[in-house]
Amino acid sequence: MDYLNNIFPLSTFYLDKFSCLTNFALRKGNAFSNPLTKIMTTEQFPSKLLERAVSELAKLPGVGRRTALRWAMYLLKQDARRTDALAESLIQLRHDVKFCKVCHNISDTDICEICSNSQRDHSTICVVENIRGVLAIEATAQYRGLYHVLGGAISPVDGVGPADLEIESLVERVKAGGVHEVILALNPTMEGDTTNFYITRKLGEYDVQITTLARGLSVGDDLEYTDELTLGRSILGRVPIEK
Ligand SMILES: [Zn+2]
Repeated sequence: MDYLNNIFPLSTFYLDKFSCLTNFALRKGNAFSNPLTKIMTTEQFPSKLLERAVSELAKLPGVGRRTALRWAMYLLKQDARRTDALAESLIQLRHDVKFCKVCHNISDTDICEICSNSQRDHSTICVVENIRGVLAIEATAQYRGLYHVLGGAISPVDGVGPADLEIESLVERVKAGGVHEVILALNPTMEGDTTNFYITRKLGEYDVQITTLARGLSVGDDLEYTDELTLGRSILGRVPIEK
């Protein structure tokens, strides 16, 4: 129970309540038959293999031991072929996945599908912090250019400097020619702004247009409830209306 207390200080309180309910149910003669609840009420796992699986699953972001245990029990109930397929896909993901040599996007080949697609606009590069940025922009179906994944943003507090990011390789791409526009699509944070500023300076000597994503009001926002920073950026970044 110690581990639960570390993760969730109120767990003892809830487990006490839970024990009361269990005892009540036992007295009433309808004990819980779910093996999960039986395990949750004991301190030790009945199997070292289960304990190991739960420990590994609980290391994933946002997964506590309770969720890890639920997943492990679910997987145990599944057909062995299904769990084999899951394990295999994770092993392959870790060992076989590559990063595109041009844009550093995740890929199954040395050059990713986007970079090797002749239908896309090779004169425009959209710079994003990470692969999630690529996925988000691709999901809009509004962009047909290429990408450049930096691998993060400049953050002195976290010890991330320009040399830790794929900034030099971006400069090299622009230097090679054929790029007319670089879109800076970093997160609207202090780190993102710092990185935008740094990249803009690095690309200053090249004949390339540098743009950033429009910032400000979201669709459906109400002016009255919009914070000053967002509204201020919206006024500064106002756009003409086509007549
Ligand atoms: Zn690529």
